Amino acid sequence: MSIEVKNITKFYKDQKALNNVSFSIKKGEIVGFLGPNGAGKSTMMKIITGFITPSEGDVLVCDYNIKTNKLNVQKHIGYFPEHNPLYLEMYVKEYLLFNASIYKIPKIEVEKIIKKVGLTSEADKKIKQLSKGYRQRVGLAAALLHNPDVLILDEPTTGLDPNQLIEIRSLIKEIGKNKTVLFSTHIMQEVDAICNRVILINKGQIIADENLVELKKNQEQIIEVEFDFRIEKQFIKTIPNLKSADNIHDTSWILTFNTTKDMRPAVFDFAHDNGLKTLKINTKNKNLESLFQELIPN
Ligand code: ADP
Ligand code: MG
Repeated sequence: MSIEVKNITKFYKDQKALNNVSFSIKKGEIVGFLGPNGAGKSTMMKIITGFITPSEGDVLVCDYNIKTNKLNVQKHIGYFPEHNPLYLEMYVKEYLLFNASIYKIPKIEVEKIIKKVGLTSEADKKIKQLSKGYRQRVGLAAALLHNPDVLILDEPTTGLDPNQLIEIRSLIKEIGKNKTVLFSTHIMQEVDAICNRVILINKGQIIADENLVELKKNQEQIIEVEFDFRIEKQFIKTIPNLKSADNIHDTSWILTFNTTKDMRPAVFDFAHDNGLKTLKINTKNKNLESLFQELIPN
């Protein structure tokens, strides 16, 4: 495993920012760490990278325990912290050379990284002269300098304009081809664009951990509906695209359709045509959007 998080709890004074969080990430996965502001994403990432200590639990990175072997963990981890702190007065190359010297990394690596993240044209500019998108690249370059196996990226796309977004996303995807990446965001579409797995966190707890490929393959639509009268299953079966119908309670049904097209209008039509009233109707699709909607109601 590249990352193993085991029963991590973190208190800031009396406030529980993380509540018994566990997950593990295999080598080569690109995982989106998705949750609203204040969910605990940055706290979790600071614990994985060894910048703060958990109140309870353990974290292993490339099989090294962060508590007992922090130095080895940090050798294997590249960290792009939230807000991407940079020395604005420094020149891009100077800044990266400075970082390289701390880790005793040969200068030639700096040249390679500059090319890899697409900073060649900006290498001799002051960081403060750069656009936000290019500044994010400098932060990514700094995180990549020591060629870590695991990358922890804390909201690397926040504050970018749409073009910069596309560029940074494809850069992360490219980097992720031979590294393990955990990357946080509060934007659902971002996860869709970059990741093959999503871990959803809310109020310090993991509320879903899903393989996106599986989620996307799942072309079903589930609707829960309550009518004002009991009806026979054979009538329900006249609704188009229906795969199965379960009478869960009295006048309530769970309908499963073999399409992702919104079938609620068809259910309303069915009720109307049969002189029924629809008392309640809910879609219960298991896709990223519905998971996210459950997490953050509007
Ligand atoms: P996210 O990155 O998902 O927005 P954070 O991990 O930054 O969430 O914060 C989780 C919770 O912990 C929030 O309620 C936040 O206010 C609190 N918190 C974060 N850092 C500190 C800190 N250094 N001291 C006290 N509370 C903190
Ligand atoms: Mg954060």
